[in-house]
Amino acid sequence: QLSKRLERVGELVPEQSRLADIGSDHAYLPVALMLQKKLTSAVAGEVVAGPYEAAKKQVRKNGLQEQITVRLADGLEAIEAADHITAVTICGMGGALIRDILEAGWNNQRLQGNERLILQPNIGEKTLRDWLTTHGYTILEEDILEENKKIYEIIVAARESVRVAYSEKERRFGPYLLQKRSAVFHKKWQRELKQRQNILIQLEKAAGDQEEKIAQIKKEIAEIQEVLS
Ligand code: SAM
Repeated sequence: QLSKRLERVGELVPEQSRLADIGSDHAYLPVALMLQKKLTSAVAGEVVAGPYEAAKKQVRKNGLQEQITVRLADGLEAIEAADHITAVTICGMGGALIRDILEAGWNNQRLQGNERLILQPNIGEKTLRDWLTTHGYTILEEDILEENKKIYEIIVAARESVRVAYSEKERRFGPYLLQKRSAVFHKKWQRELKQRQNILIQLEKAAGDQEEKIAQIKKEIAEIQEVLS
């Protein structure tokens, strides 16, 4: 039984993908998708020994050793050319870490550029959208959901022939999430607004020259208020 978060990620993986799930932990996602017969093959990558062993165990328990290869590797180094990967999932990490993993994979050619990326950052979504934009990716789909009081965003991206230029506002809020402005989206940005308003109070109380920080936080508050209005 997948979490609602991973279930939604799984729905966004195209049928008959050859999937690389990076930071797979227990390999729950590739195992579930393989059992649903959604994947042709899969690689589960883990950089930490404990989760790597857990992934191997989960794959073995489900008799999927032939279909899912578990590799102990840093980021996209888990991918080999012969895997012919068509989709990559990186979930449950901060946006900056996902960005670093993509950047390293880009630089050492583990990313071919034609894979569909299904990314689920826990925080730092803008950092990730900034990277995608500067590397010629188009955002194809987005989702936002709440589970156990936490709010998660999912970003699906691919390199398309036509390049889309995203505004700063779209990179912060998500181009599709911004269009939809769902109830969960409102809840997330209400929270973010409150957080920034508290920071502003602290900054205004603090000694020393806080002008630059105050101006930045005020700018963000205004942006969020505009989106929520
Ligand atoms: N992807 C699963 C999910 O969404 O439920 C597991 C998320 S878990 C919080 C993050 C996992 O990423 C950990 O098991 C961690 O060891 C792994 N990880 C962190 N950095 C990594 C890297 N550079 N390469 C591969 N795995 C990494």
